[in-house]
Amino acid sequence: MDFSITKDDEAAATAFDRFCQDKIAPRAAKADATSTFPKETWGDLKEIGFFESFYEGDYGLGLSWVQRCMMEESLAKACASTFLTACAHIGLCGAPLFYFGTPEQKQRWLRPLVDVSTIGCFGLTEPGCGTDAAAIKTRAKKSGKGWVLSGEKALITNAPIADFAVVFAVTDPEAGYGGVTMFGVDLKKPGVTRSAPYPKMGLRSSPTGGLIFEEVALNDDDVIGEVGQGFIHAMQTLELGRIGMCHFGIGIAEAAYDCARKYATERTAFGKPLARLQAVHFKIADMKIEIDAARMMARRVAWMKSKGEMVGPMASIAKTYATEMAVRVADAAVQIHGGWGYTTDFAAERYLRDARLGPIGEGTSEIQRELIARDLLAE
Ligand SMILES: Cc1cc2nc3c(=O)[nH]c(=O)nc-3n(C[C@H](O)[C@H](O)[C@H](O)COP(=O)(O)OP(=O)(O)OC[C@H]3O[C@@H](n4cnc5c(N)ncnc54)[C@H](O)[C@@H]3O)c2cc1C
Repeated sequence: MDFSITKDDEAAATAFDRFCQDKIAPRAAKADATSTFPKETWGDLKEIGFFESFYEGDYGLGLSWVQRCMMEESLAKACASTFLTACAHIGLCGAPLFYFGTPEQKQRWLRPLVDVSTIGCFGLTEPGCGTDAAAIKTRAKKSGKGWVLSGEKALITNAPIADFAVVFAVTDPEAGYGGVTMFGVDLKKPGVTRSAPYPKMGLRSSPTGGLIFEEVALNDDDVIGEVGQGFIHAMQTLELGRIGMCHFGIGIAEAAYDCARKYATERTAFGKPLARLQAVHFKIADMKIEIDAARMMARRVAWMKSKGEMVGPMASIAKTYATEMAVRVADAAVQIHGGWGYTTDFAAERYLRDARLGPIGEGTSEIQRELIARDLLAE
C-alpha cells in the first residue's frame, strides 16, 4: 500500500488544516449552542475550494482520494456539524449527479452545488424506514411525459435549508429493489413542504429535517440515472459516504484527543499534572492507538479507491471502526476532564454528542457488520 503524497499536496493539506483551525473551529461552539447553521463558513469553504475537492474535470480539482480524505479529516476536526452539512451537500447530493447524471443535469444541478449558489440534500430515509431502504413508500407515478411524486422523507441533513434534493421513490411497486428510481427535485416546486428542523443530541448546527411531497410534478429529464436503478445508485452513493464517515470519526477523535491532552498537562491532582498519572497515560496512549488504527484503515480504502478497486466490505470495516472509535475516544476525553468534562465549558462533551451519529448515519454499525459478515461467509 502506498499512501504517500507529493510535498505540494502535503503543503496544501497543511494549509487547509490551518484554515479549518483558524476560521472554522472558533465558530463551532457558538453555532452548536445556538443551533445555527454558520453560513459564513460556507463562503470561506467555497473560497478555499473545498467544494471542488470532490470531483474532477469541469466540476472539480481532481484531487487524489488520500488528499481528499486529509481535507475531510481536518474539517471534521474543526467542526463536525460543518463537515456533515458540507459533505451531505457536495458528497451525498452531488455524487449521484456527478456519477449518474446527464451533462445537462450536471450543468443544471451540480454546477450550482459546486458554486454553492444552491444547497443540496439526499433524501432516502423515511419516517417508517432507514436501514431497510428498499421499503420506502415515497411513490412516483408515471403521468404523460413526466411523473407525480408523493411521500415523505425524514432525518435528512440540510432539508430545512436546501434548494435541491436527490430523492428516491418507488416507480414500480412490483419490482422490489429494481422498482426504485432516483429523481432530482427542485424544492421550490409546488407541493413540496418541510418539517421544522429537529432538535438533536449533537451536530446541532447541521440542520436536519423532513421533506413532504404532495403530488409534485416532475419531468422525464428529472430522472437521474436509469428508471429502476435508484436503489443501486443509492447504495453506490452511500458507499462513498462511508469513506467520508471514517473521516468524520477520525476528525472528531483527533479534536477530542487534543483537548484531553491539553487538559491533562494543565490540570493538577495530588500535586502533579494529570498527565503524570499512569491511568491518564494509558487513556492518552489508547486514544492515539485507536485514532492511528482508524486512519490506516481509512487510508487503505482511499488507496484502493484511487486504484479503481471495489472497496465494499473494506469501507464497512473502516466506517464501523472509525465511528465507534470516535465515541470511545470522545468518552475518554470527557473522563479525563472529570466533572468539567460534563459541562459545556469544555468542548469534550460536544465531541461526544457529535461522535454519536457516526455508528448510526450512512448505514448503522449493525448493518455494516451484516455486510462484512455476508462478504466473509460468501461461498
Ligand atoms: C443527524 C442525522 C442525519 C441524517 N442525514 C440523512 C440524510 O442526509 N439522508 C438520509 O437519507 N438519511 C439521513 N439520516 C438517516 C440515517 O441514515 C438513518 O437514521 C439510519 O440509516 C438508520 O435508519 P433508522 O433511523 O430508520 O433506524 P432503523 O432502520 O429503524 O434501525 C433501528 C435499529 O435497528 C437496527 N437494525 C435495523 N435493521 C437491522 C438489520 N437487518 N440487522 C441488524 N440490525 C438492524 C439498526 O442498526 C438500529 O440500531 C440521518 C440521520 C441522522 C440522525
